[in-house]
Amino acid sequence: MRPEILFPVFAPVTSLKGVGSRVAPLLEKLAGPIVRDVAFLRPHSVIRRERSSVAAAMEGAVQVFEVRIDAYKRPRAPQQPWRIETHDETGLLSLVFFGRFGGDLEAKHPVGSRRVVSGKVERFGLNLQIAHPDYLLPPERASEIPPFEAVYPATAGLPPRTVRKFALEALERTPDLPEWQDGAWLAREGFPSWREALALTHAPQGEADLSPLTRHARRLAFDELLAHQLAMAQRKADRRAAPAPAIARGDIAPRIEAALPFALTGAQQRALADLRGDLAAGERMSRLIQGDVGSGKTVVAMLAMAEVAAAGGQSALMAPTEILARQHFETLAGPLSDQGVAAVLLTGRDKGAARAEKLRALASGAVKVAVGTHALFQDEVAFQALQLAVIDEQHRFGVAERQRLQAKGEAVHLVAMSATPIPRTLELTVYGDLDVSRIDEKPPGRTPVATRAVPMSRLAEVEARLHQVVAQGAQAFWICPLVSESELIDLKAAEKRAQELRERIGPGVGLVHGKMSGPEKDAVMADFADGKIGVLVATTVVEVGVNVPNATIMVIEQAERFGLAQLHQLRGRVGRGSRESACLLLYDPPLSETAQKRLDILRRTDDGFLIAETDLELRGGGDALGLRQSGFPAYVFADPIAHRDLIAAAGDDARLILQRDPDLVSERGQALRVLQELFDWRAASPLKDAG
Ligand code: ADP
Ligand code: MG
Repeated sequence: MRPEILFPVFAPVTSLKGVGSRVAPLLEKLAGPIVRDVAFLRPHSVIRRERSSVAAAMEGAVQVFEVRIDAYKRPRAPQQPWRIETHDETGLLSLVFFGRFGGDLEAKHPVGSRRVVSGKVERFGLNLQIAHPDYLLPPERASEIPPFEAVYPATAGLPPRTVRKFALEALERTPDLPEWQDGAWLAREGFPSWREALALTHAPQGEADLSPLTRHARRLAFDELLAHQLAMAQRKADRRAAPAPAIARGDIAPRIEAALPFALTGAQQRALADLRGDLAAGERMSRLIQGDVGSGKTVVAMLAMAEVAAAGGQSALMAPTEILARQHFETLAGPLSDQGVAAVLLTGRDKGAARAEKLRALASGAVKVAVGTHALFQDEVAFQALQLAVIDEQHRFGVAERQRLQAKGEAVHLVAMSATPIPRTLELTVYGDLDVSRIDEKPPGRTPVATRAVPMSRLAEVEARLHQVVAQGAQAFWICPLVSESELIDLKAAEKRAQELRERIGPGVGLVHGKMSGPEKDAVMADFADGKIGVLVATTVVEVGVNVPNATIMVIEQAERFGLAQLHQLRGRVGRGSRESACLLLYDPPLSETAQKRLDILRRTDDGFLIAETDLELRGGGDALGLRQSGFPAYVFADPIAHRDLIAAAGDDARLILQRDPDLVSERGQALRVLQELFDWRAASPLKDAG
């Protein structure tokens, strides 16, 4: 139930004065559908309006003058403006209006009247002028001109000053709300009340007041973060409360582990211990395994599946593409079946009798492990006792898809795997409702990938060298980015590149792109994995996680256009074997200083987490889109860089609150419900409905 106190801010934007059917859609686009969204708009700059005399006017400044209107000059041609000639005691000032304003203006501001006028001062030849003044008022209304004016984001048909008017009215409608923050914390941080903080946001007295570091900005950011952390902590608690089969340690997993041709890394051992702890706890597990491509997540998942099998249960491992599913199956099936655990591969390709046979084996429990694609959660698939769902590349699946798989058993444990490194500071905001295990150590024996940035002017050299190594049996990826407005143009560029490489290197050049169907892509990828293709040109990011040990070269065109995390993931596709590998970052010079620094990090380190952390710093928080791609939520007030200290504090606070008052019934708890409703965070989580 929404608390009554919030009704005014949850009213539609049309309840604001002056917002009718023309303006409403514009305002909704700019802010959102309700009054709250308009009150949450924030100015991006502030104009200071100073009084001046005409003689002391400063070109380019926004100033206020008191003048007398002397004459109207009508345009002599349609494209010329109306001019109003005015003066004060010190000089002459023209007011300029393009368009047909003349008659109206003259009626409102007759010759001989005094007016205060404000706007940006320009020089036109010898004249000082203001084009389309922001204010033109009789002197007795001069107080309507604010000395500091917040400038709001605008959109076509909705200028900043109109937006400001709506924002201020929305603020007016916003009630004072009961305090939901801890008193001691408020005092320590010197935070104003929520309502006051919002009011200060709309009343900047200078640029400094717009900084994310002001007390009012930090207060609002903390409120938003706390609302989100609280929602995630609640979700986690709810999921935990659901009982799940307690799976004790069996003897199959240790035997598989002992038979592996390698020893688990320390990080793998820690992740496995986390999984075993969760499986044995009797509560439903929701754990994310984060680790670079090649860090060995799949092996860890396999051992967890072996534990489940030893206890008589079934597991399903779901991958986003057929080729990935196939690779996982090839990794797992041998070691599992050596210890008597039967596994099947289930993809869209299975048809007829063979498919029916696999389905029967899953339904009867004869098979304990299913590896597959979307085919796994189709209606005809039934398990005898599904107890663990493992989702590889979890962000590639929708909530509903994961849910459908989990719905095939009761209180199914969930392990999600991701190769997108999220900086530790942001982990809480992206995966706050999951437990996270990080595999931050690579298996030994990998040769680091030699990484170099190369200007496009040396393309011919790169191609010649590629020709050489491919002739010696090596394989290479060649990535063409999606950069233009039109995917079609990008596709043409990639086709052209593939053609050119064919001319230089020979027929063994393949192409995959986003316009191909899944099976088409899979077929080309499979040819590459089988060594039938030497160079694979790709427009879209080649399937994360695809393992082609023979591929030792990664060429990335226009590398400066990619996010660092993406470059790092692409690079992770090579250097899988013990052979020397190289990654060439082709760029169009000149590189900006930041771009240079970014590419340089890749040269210096292979640690995905470190790269993600540095990337975040170099972005400076300005790259909302890039951050969203890495899973950062679309906060209104919270800034991942400026407020990173608050993220952890909000996480701690949320946990503490739920420990003391799990149902939020205390006085503070009630106020926190208002906060949650105000920010409405329940609407946004990667695994929201997963349990
Ligand atoms: P990820 O799923 O994290 O990308 P995988 O589990 O597919 O990584 O592992 C990549 C490769 O490394 C596989 O061939 C796997 O057999 C191998 N591998 C995994 N763990 C180790 C280890 N501790 N030592 C050596 N090789 C390993
Ligand atoms: Mg993998």
